[in-house]
Amino acid sequence: METQPKASHFINGTYVEDTNGTPIPVIYPATGEVIATVYAATPEVLDQAVSAAQAAQEAWGAMTGTERGRILRRAADLMRARNHELSVLETYDTGKPLQETLVADATSGADALEYFGGLAATLTGEHIPLGEDWVYTVREPLGVCVGIGAWNYPTQIACWKGAPALACGNAMIFKPSETTPLCALKVAEILIEAGLPAGLYNVVQGMGEVGGALVTDPRVDKVSLTGSVPTGKKVYAAAASGMKHVTMELGGKSPLVIFDDADLDNAVGGAINGNFYSSGQVCSNGTRVFVQKGIKEAFLKRLAERLENAVLGDPLNEDTNFGPMVSERQMEIVKSYIAKGNEEGARLVAGGGQLDKEGFWLEPTVFADVTDDMTIAREEIFGPVMAVLDFEDEAEVIARANDTEYGLSAGVFTKDISRAHRVIGKLQAGSCFINSYNDAPVEAPFGGVKASGVGRENSKEAIQHYSQVKSVYVRMGDVEAAF
Ligand code: NDP
Repeated sequence: METQPKASHFINGTYVEDTNGTPIPVIYPATGEVIATVYAATPEVLDQAVSAAQAAQEAWGAMTGTERGRILRRAADLMRARNHELSVLETYDTGKPLQETLVADATSGADALEYFGGLAATLTGEHIPLGEDWVYTVREPLGVCVGIGAWNYPTQIACWKGAPALACGNAMIFKPSETTPLCALKVAEILIEAGLPAGLYNVVQGMGEVGGALVTDPRVDKVSLTGSVPTGKKVYAAAASGMKHVTMELGGKSPLVIFDDADLDNAVGGAINGNFYSSGQVCSNGTRVFVQKGIKEAFLKRLAERLENAVLGDPLNEDTNFGPMVSERQMEIVKSYIAKGNEEGARLVAGGGQLDKEGFWLEPTVFADVTDDMTIAREEIFGPVMAVLDFEDEAEVIARANDTEYGLSAGVFTKDISRAHRVIGKLQAGSCFINSYNDAPVEAPFGGVKASGVGRENSKEAIQHYSQVKSVYVRMGDVEAAF
């Protein structure tokens, strides 16, 4: 497959290159090979992108929702028709196995385009009667939106931000992570092919400073970031100084609580999905697995048996179900956490090593007997490292699960349905699961509380974050005034 894009950026409906920007090598994580080079956006490129977005937005916002939605739904169809090719590119960009990318990336992006395409025509205001007068409200676009992505789901993030922004009548400039710059360019191509007018979905490459320049550009009205909490704090503060709207989808250290009456295989399956999918590089992962003492040894035994089925191999082979870390840097970060787990006295029960081969490969790793104060139980690792903690009772586990600055996700496995709802009701998290883990349908709001973020992606909730309400008072009679 040709992985080198035609050019680094996509602006005003076409590819744009400027080799004066810093070169960014794109590395295939499974082998460490350089598969493409893009260049960071220069100030001239950024200006072109923001100017194009601003120029195109007004006419787009004035179109009917039905017209806008039709284009998004056409783009969804194109993405589905090209799913295989897009999934292979996603695998090259991220190293995630094709077995995953075929079902979780372009397909999830297409779901967002289809869902928000359908919603576009339903965006209306309200009529508020006040005797003979009335107020009506109009849901208006925000203007120019900036999306900044993390590296774990480059196609999905480009669509989860682009689809609601465009449905609401905004223009978007998307900056992918420098680690995975390829996939968003394909999203831009497809949108243009589906009939999106030029200038409404632009992609610019670069590191943090390119994102920073976009966030502080006075022509930008909204910033949606998917990234870590430290970056989120910086971007939120920069956006605040311009009084811009924000959505912050940040990191987590989410609890997965397994009571001893849980179905063992389902609970183990939930813990596997919540720790090893995408080699653990998922923000909502349930990385603190609290297992009630009565089921603990059975849980660890079954987990070890099922880990035997992990297939670490060529990510383009559909039998492979566990890929490499996205980059050498991320692999080194995860290795340092594995070392801390060992140093601080957690019991290594599976994995823990780097594979002796090219690329950035780590084994799926499980630590048992983890305590709340250990580094691996407190900090987001963003890799395939599961921490298993023991607990005795419900009140204790709720208090311990909530004892974190994060609040992205939480899950509970139990056959006691009253307990399931009671516990979920008390867990401080935005996206929760009962007898399941890590499902992310476009129909469900997704996002965090506490340091894990602000706002929600997906579902009807996302509309609130990509539009604003104008209210209009209409007087039918004469105006009374004091003089
Ligand atoms: P980072 O926070 O390092 O980066 C996120 C994006 O922000 C990148 O595109 C980065 O650019 C950019 N960026 C960095 N600094 C600035 C700045 N000062 N101003 C503007 N933009 C900036 O996250 P990662 O890419 O390492 O992704 C992993 C993190 O993302 C994890 O914490 C994970 O939990 C979180 N995440 C959250 C999700 C959610 O929905 N809640 C989903 C997926 C991931 P560059 O890297 O190119 O320098």
